[in-house]
Amino acid sequence: AHDGHDVDVVVVGGGIGGLANALALTRKGLRVRVLEQAHEFGEVGAGLQIAPNCTRILDQWGLLDEVKSLGVLPENILMKDAIDGGVLTSLDLSDVERRYGFPYMVIHRSDLHGTLLRACRRAGVDLVNDVTVTAYEQAEGGAVAVHAGGREFGEIVLAADGLRSVARRIVSDDEPVSSAYVAYRSAVPFEKVADLDLHPKDVVVYIGPRCHFVQYSLRHGEMFNQVAVFESPKALAGEEDWGTPDELDGAFAAACDQVRAGLPLMWRDRRWRMYDREPIMDWVRGRIALTGDAAHPPLQYLAQGAIMAIEDAWVLSEHVGAQDRTGSVDWDAALAAYNAVRPQHCRRVLTTARAWGNLWHHDGEKREWRNAVLRDRDVYDYSYVDWLFGPTALTPDQLSPMFPQYAGDDTQA
Ligand code: FAD
Repeated sequence: AHDGHDVDVVVVGGGIGGLANALALTRKGLRVRVLEQAHEFGEVGAGLQIAPNCTRILDQWGLLDEVKSLGVLPENILMKDAIDGGVLTSLDLSDVERRYGFPYMVIHRSDLHGTLLRACRRAGVDLVNDVTVTAYEQAEGGAVAVHAGGREFGEIVLAADGLRSVARRIVSDDEPVSSAYVAYRSAVPFEKVADLDLHPKDVVVYIGPRCHFVQYSLRHGEMFNQVAVFESPKALAGEEDWGTPDELDGAFAAACDQVRAGLPLMWRDRRWRMYDREPIMDWVRGRIALTGDAAHPPLQYLAQGAIMAIEDAWVLSEHVGAQDRTGSVDWDAALAAYNAVRPQHCRRVLTTARAWGNLWHHDGEKREWRNAVLRDRDVYDYSYVDWLFGPTALTPDQLSPMFPQYAGDDTQA
């Protein structure tokens, strides 16, 4: 119907970002095809924290009940010192839900991905596996994703191809930046941890010198999720094979009993080296646009990576949906509106995540200072999370100031 081509939008990559975009645009009446290199759609890894700025969007898409039925609504986020085990600060998550109108949840990554995948199938998204996109081209009235088996035309092509995005080379020659930190994960049946000294109803983050450790329950408390992250001495020494399991044990040697009791459960055969990229402020070339980690891979310390991808999808689709159109979309206007707001927000997340990680990993006097500052914080002071957890901005003027209590001085622009 639409000028002979059989889909309106081509999405490259079927991770959380690609599927969220496909669903959001299909909900606006467009025909979307997703090209995924893997043989099946899926997610590896364990738990994912999803803050109110994500559950708000999932609710709008009609998916919040399903997500709630699969995940856990923790009571608190507790931040503790990894060496002495003392509580430094916390967030009361029932108060967070009251304040922002939507819950803070944790869910297995494959459950969130599965929820999006089922919603895409119900909505009629064309989901294609075993296709690796190798190049992109602009075309009359759209763009083309090129792969070994052919060429896929869309009025736009959205690249959701992750940290090592091929499409990103169109807009930037930057490379992933290694943090020299590595993550080990594990998700085990709760019985395996039942005898340990835990906070099964909370998300707990132990922060320590050059390391941190995260624990929370998943799947109605049937599973227990842990993430152990540390700076690799081998990475600092320039060795190729870094972040190896022997380094895991060494990194937490000085940690408190609660942390060390959890370490033997970590999966030792898989690890995630932590990379981000420098923020870039232009994600669009003609009818090709970046989204998700391809556009803004963060270090994970704010737990906003997948959330940003879902926000990207919501923002672009809302700009499309707001257009007064009879069959055709003004893509240039929608992409310009998207590009005017998302890079600015995501730049803040990327730079703040780096700074937040540095704060977590302090040693010596800096650690003492950090602990004193965190212990002093009022648990109900939301100035550090309002800009993250509040409603997703559609336009730059809706972006909330990062620290409203200090905004008075520099608003005379
Ligand atoms: P990806 O998940 O990388 O998906 C890219 C997809 O594209 C893949 O399916 C890939 O196979 C496919 N692909 C790649 N290249 C091609 C190609 N050329 N052709 C076709 N297909 C291709 N985020 C949160 O919100 N909360 C958290 O608590 C959180 N915790 C984290 C903890 C850790 C340890 C880590 C490592 C990350 C965490 N994140 C978290 C971040 C989150 O995982 C990512 O930001 C998110 O998964 C990115 O999704 P994406 O779809 O953009 O990219």
